[in-house]
Amino acid sequence: MSDPTPSVVEFDSVSKTYPGGVAAVRDVSLRIGRGELVGVVGPSGSGKSSMLHLMGSLDRPSAGRVLVDGYDVAKLSDREVSALRATRIGFVFQQFHLAVGVPVLDSVADGLLYAGMPMRRRRARAAAALARVGLSHRVRHLPHQLSGGERQRVAVARAVVGEPSVLLADEPTGNLDSVSGAAVLELLRELHAAGTTVVVITHDLEIAAQLPRRIEMRDGRLVNDTTQDTSTTIGAHR
Ligand code: ADP
Ligand code: MG
Repeated sequence: MSDPTPSVVEFDSVSKTYPGGVAAVRDVSLRIGRGELVGVVGPSGSGKSSMLHLMGSLDRPSAGRVLVDGYDVAKLSDREVSALRATRIGFVFQQFHLAVGVPVLDSVADGLLYAGMPMRRRRARAAAALARVGLSHRVRHLPHQLSGGERQRVAVARAVVGEPSVLLADEPTGNLDSVSGAAVLELLRELHAAGTTVVVITHDLEIAAQLPRRIEMRDGRLVNDTTQDTSTTIGAHR
């Protein structure tokens, strides 16, 4: 059967059992198509971060198959996995992970190190990414001179500067007050509207309810996968 929507992420019966025997992800199958905005919800310990790590090739499955942009992660060498991650995947975490003492522009430009571009071009691309997140007036600032919300927007700029196939965000609003958190979520929506594929873990059910697709985890299992009709949803995912 032909499928018009290319998948950015595909899980075939994926399980992840950590050393010590914790089954964090159990037999999950899913497909995420290009241009989707997907929320992942579920109680603490339900396997959300483990699943995102698998999607981002930060970890390999214990069983099943993970495809990113059509590449079977298990069949790639360590070097190829690093390349896949550096060029096709953008990460945003709850902690902003910005290097202390490094100006914002350079932190974002570092997101392009793998591309082997000259510094000037990396900086120009970084400036454009910072403009996208509304921080053109902060490019010379150091992380400690920024608010939490601004730091997270820098982290988002760094994640998208290389135009990855998918942006993976693990509780990106977890360390922010509600106003800054809402602004970061709005930014993810804007990126999605401009064509970026986004997967965002959130504990905020109100936020999740507004997303075009919601995946619900419980005890490592995918227990619900609902798509709602919003004008920005591109195609069907199954
Ligand atoms: P969530 O993000 O939904 O809170 P996680 O994916 O972080 O859930 O964790 C799922 C389960 O796997 C939990 O029981 C957690 O303790 C366990 N776990 C997560 N990471 C590891 C690890 N590196 N080693 C062992 N157990 C882990
Ligand atoms: Mg988590």
